[in-house]
Amino acid sequence: MLVIMQRDATAHDVDGVCQAIKAMGYEAVPMPGAQRTAVGLIGNDGQVDGSSIEALPGVAQVLHVSKPYKQVSRDWRPENTVVTIAPGVSFGGAAVPVIAGPCSVESEQQILTAARAVRAAGASALRGGAFKPRSSPYSFQGMGKAGLELLALARRETGLAIVTEAMDEEGAHLVAEYADCIQIGARNMQNYSLLKAVGRIGKPVLLKRGMSATIAELLLSAEYILAEGNPHVILCERGIRSFDTQTRNVFDLAAIPVVQKLSHLPIVADPSHGTGVRDKVTPMARAAVAAGADGILVEVHPSPDRALSDGAQSLYPDQFVRLVTELRPIAAAIGRSLTPTPGTAAVSVG
Ligand code: PEP
Ligand code: MN
Repeated sequence: MLVIMQRDATAHDVDGVCQAIKAMGYEAVPMPGAQRTAVGLIGNDGQVDGSSIEALPGVAQVLHVSKPYKQVSRDWRPENTVVTIAPGVSFGGAAVPVIAGPCSVESEQQILTAARAVRAAGASALRGGAFKPRSSPYSFQGMGKAGLELLALARRETGLAIVTEAMDEEGAHLVAEYADCIQIGARNMQNYSLLKAVGRIGKPVLLKRGMSATIAELLLSAEYILAEGNPHVILCERGIRSFDTQTRNVFDLAAIPVVQKLSHLPIVADPSHGTGVRDKVTPMARAAVAAGADGILVEVHPSPDRALSDGAQSLYPDQFVRLVTELRPIAAAIGRSLTPTPGTAAVSVG
């Protein structure tokens, strides 16, 4: 249930609503907005009788949020949530950041070369896994803490924000010390203890859709993070598993506008894992920006043929340069722009 206060409601009125909700045995979440305050009620399983609240001073309206997810829904918060992971790198506003880099951090030379290349091409954040969730236990598992240190070095060198994955609670605390945004991978979308942990840590989270997760399940997983008090969640569409083997996954672009209707959280698109095939990444990245994605995540490797993971879907640096150039007018066509690389002036579209 959501209690919308009148525009001229006082702090005392808001407090009265919170007290009434608590007296009913639920938790009250006051949410001051630009126009007026709303108070959310959480902890209920079924519909709550809001008639006593409706009559309280300063209350404009009581809304019942019928969806299983509450705090992530647009009913709860009509305006977009803007998640800022580093100065000038925000998701959910008019600007569209590009996150790029290799699948895994492999060496100092590899990550620095990749970071310099994606920065020069126009990315605003660097990706690269130090902890890798591989389907086979015999595949490269990532460099661990040493990889995080290399990412920190790349940030110092280039100014790019860092997005990197955590696979468990202990790793999440470590990743939080180094990264600007903690990635929760597709395989961990329903790892509820990990979701609660990153909710408590409070750093921005990039939550990827599970490979067989519905959109409602993705939103419920995000709800776990918000329920722990962390509103800084960026969702990510990265393809879902299906029967066709031409692409690694089926890249569900319709999820972008669907999520944007259901939720106020930003959603980015990952055409690299979405397609798994290098020459399909560029067209689908273009399509994702056209579909309204709030950011793009693309794998780029200085020498994809030698990559220790996901080489087949990693762009060569020169392909990434072309991609960013192509994305600019597409973003402009729908009233948006690519986020400028940190430390550079905004690039105007001619
Ligand atoms: C990745 O980003 O490299 C990754 C492992 O992605 P996903 O969790 O979407 O498979
Ligand atoms: Mn990958």
